[in-house]
Amino acid sequence: MKTFRIGQYHVTRIEEMLTPGFMPDFLFPDFESGIFDEHKLLSGARFWDEVSKKVMSSMHSWMIRDDRHTILVDTGCGNDKMRALPLFARFHQLHLPYLDRLLEAGVRPEDVNLVICTHLHVDHVGWNTKLVDGKWVPTFPNAKYIFSRREFEHWQSPAGQLSMPENMAVIADSVLPVIEAGQVEFINDGSKILEGLFFQDAIGHTAGHGLLKLESGRDAAIFPGDSLHQPMQVFRPDWNSRFCEMAEEARTTRRAVLDYCHDRNALLLPAHFGAPHGGYVRRHSAGYDFTPADDLVIAG
Ligand SMILES: [Zn+2]
Repeated sequence: MKTFRIGQYHVTRIEEMLTPGFMPDFLFPDFESGIFDEHKLLSGARFWDEVSKKVMSSMHSWMIRDDRHTILVDTGCGNDKMRALPLFARFHQLHLPYLDRLLEAGVRPEDVNLVICTHLHVDHVGWNTKLVDGKWVPTFPNAKYIFSRREFEHWQSPAGQLSMPENMAVIADSVLPVIEAGQVEFINDGSKILEGLFFQDAIGHTAGHGLLKLESGRDAAIFPGDSLHQPMQVFRPDWNSRFCEMAEEARTTRRAVLDYCHDRNALLLPAHFGAPHGGYVRRHSAGYDFTPADDLVIAG
């Protein structure tokens, strides 16, 4: 289990699954295979599965802790969820030891204070709820769940529902039950969540997508959610995923994320990168470079 230190905070990855994801030319409509010749690290086993010819895709939460707070950023796909449509086949009826891994990190569900979802897609809200006696209930009974108001309103609107009709069952089983339980706080662009932890709109992937910045002393990290899916997008920031709803906004957001990483020397901690699941970005005259964060692991 990897833990990164960001000033007073420790950031640990809680794995749900790490498997081959999509074919790159499916995930990225603009994909060109020459990128593998240019950047050898992309065809290494951490980011590429040679057997299936798919990019490696991690599902995980980032857990941020200090003496007083235990915070989960995004909650993966969840167990027992009906995801019968072909697009969601990888997420259908899972029975994964995510909560055991949380325990291995020393955290029981009741210890979690805050759950923050960057957006409300199927693979970011799953563990918000668990199935008990045929009913979806909050997995983290003492947590306040934080959702972007803009993102929630998007999924309430006809345009949002049409943007990904498959996702409406996800809203029903993984979002509405925590609202009904009175555990949700909706926040807006620019909200300060804790000392050093900020929420910002980062639209494009969805119409209400957000990101988190964590700043403590000289250290910084950014949780950009699905502003980037794969390391190859650091080298090709104009490549949107096929799931990005707003093309130009998604590109602008991605560049802003990469610029922040460079300018603040911030650790980039996305939602789906293969091991070591994060890294550092440098801007140069022709674009951006990516260095996986292997050297900076302090524990686990
Ligand atoms: Zn995602």
